[in-house]
Amino acid sequence: MPAQLKLNGRLTIEDLNALTEMPVEGITYDQMYIEKEPICPEYKEPDQDIIPSSKRTVVVDPGRICMPFGAMWASVGIHKCIPFVQGAQGCTTYPRYTFSRIFREPVSIATASFHEDTAVFGGRKNFIEGIRNLIIRYHPEVIAIITVCSSEIIGDDMEGYLDESIDELEEEFGPEITDEVKFAIIHTPSFTGSHVEGYNRAAAAFLKALAKRSTPEPKVNIIPGMITPGDIREIKHILRLMDIESTILFDISETLDCPLRLPQTMPYYPKGGTRINDIVNMGNSLATFALCPDAGGAGAKYLEKRFKVPAMIGPMPMGIYNTDFFIKNLAERTGKPVAEEIKDERGILIDAMADTFHYTMGRRVAIYGDPDIAAAVTRFVCELGMEPAIVGSGTESKQFVEEVWAAAHEYDYKPILLNGGDMFEWEDYIKKEKIDLILSNSKAANISKEAKVPLVRIGFPVYDRVGCQRRATVGYRGSEYLLDLIVNTLLESKFPDDRLQQ
Ligand code: SF4
Repeated sequence: MPAQLKLNGRLTIEDLNALTEMPVEGITYDQMYIEKEPICPEYKEPDQDIIPSSKRTVVVDPGRICMPFGAMWASVGIHKCIPFVQGAQGCTTYPRYTFSRIFREPVSIATASFHEDTAVFGGRKNFIEGIRNLIIRYHPEVIAIITVCSSEIIGDDMEGYLDESIDELEEEFGPEITDEVKFAIIHTPSFTGSHVEGYNRAAAAFLKALAKRSTPEPKVNIIPGMITPGDIREIKHILRLMDIESTILFDISETLDCPLRLPQTMPYYPKGGTRINDIVNMGNSLATFALCPDAGGAGAKYLEKRFKVPAMIGPMPMGIYNTDFFIKNLAERTGKPVAEEIKDERGILIDAMADTFHYTMGRRVAIYGDPDIAAAVTRFVCELGMEPAIVGSGTESKQFVEEVWAAAHEYDYKPILLNGGDMFEWEDYIKKEKIDLILSNSKAANISKEAKVPLVRIGFPVYDRVGCQRRATVGYRGSEYLLDLIVNTLLESKFPDDRLQQ
């Protein structure tokens, strides 16, 4: 090897260009080091290593949002359900704005509209008046009562307020008015967790409030987690092919991606969402599949403990191994055979992986997102021959760590793992390491531009591209779509003209 090794044994582009003759072999991918100029001229390398987020009291560029948001997401997946947020208007406005940015759909969320006096005297008056207005004006079938930081710190007695509210309404209008409405109280003090935990708590709260055991039924429960309407449609497609009856809690496929059909009567409710009777019946199912362990696992565990409905928790069915695991368990629990069409879909994905292996193999990837999605993506990129170099989740999760290490050990990789770390720390590693591709959400867009590493958008939130909510990345067909995104992004980045390396 004529070139002098530099940069901890790695070769720069200049070293390679200086070679009189390019060796056919002898330079490993690991030895190559492409120095990147930051796009922003003002950018300066930090003088010293940044303090890991686990050792800081401040979060810079957080990869999570507040807990009530997850509970609101879950609630809008129920037919004719309106979330009632026991807090200030900002705690509602920000989630509504986020829903609009991601799903481009209107979402009705009521608020107790806390002000200074509420912080002193508590939220009882606002709650009772708010629930009365909501029922009279909007006639919801379900109200999800969602607390926030302030109501939890004040110590609002939500269960007591709800009893009082029902008593007052019945006294004023008669018992019929509250017979028509179901309530679930979801405690979501944002300082103890993220949107992921909010969804998780909502799953447990709705099932505790509504599910019953009567006559066993040959169907399964699916708690999908915070995946897209397109993902839920893909899960329904798999269930349909296997001829399996199901209840999907929380089904946002036709509430957050609803067909626009006129005229719309007021008060407006999308036609989709999980029906109350189906939730009540969830105690009678053969099994519960929580596709995202951290977002919905609590609901599956409750049904198992209370009604002996077996809980099948994760992993998210993306790629070959995880989707196989899901389909195999579905077949075992229901006694239904795996449909031939599903076997074909699997074969098409494997064929697509084989066709593109020379583009994906050896590429180093940085992944960041919610724990269940980041863990599933990690395994999928391993299946594609890519190396998960840095994997981060904004929400701390034991299962995330276990899943990522299981995949990494299996494929003999040692990724840098940021469990509950912020995107600032993750970004720093991207700039230090040689990374070919970023798989993350829209919050990584600026990091991608500055580090000049292409980004494939996946997970939550994706707000700077349209259509992501309609696309699936779960199941064999969804993974095939994700594979195409990954490969086409690599082709664009590594072979920007039409002379593809075949
Ligand atoms: S962090 Fe707390 S105060 Fe802020 S929006 Fe979320 S719930 Fe409201």
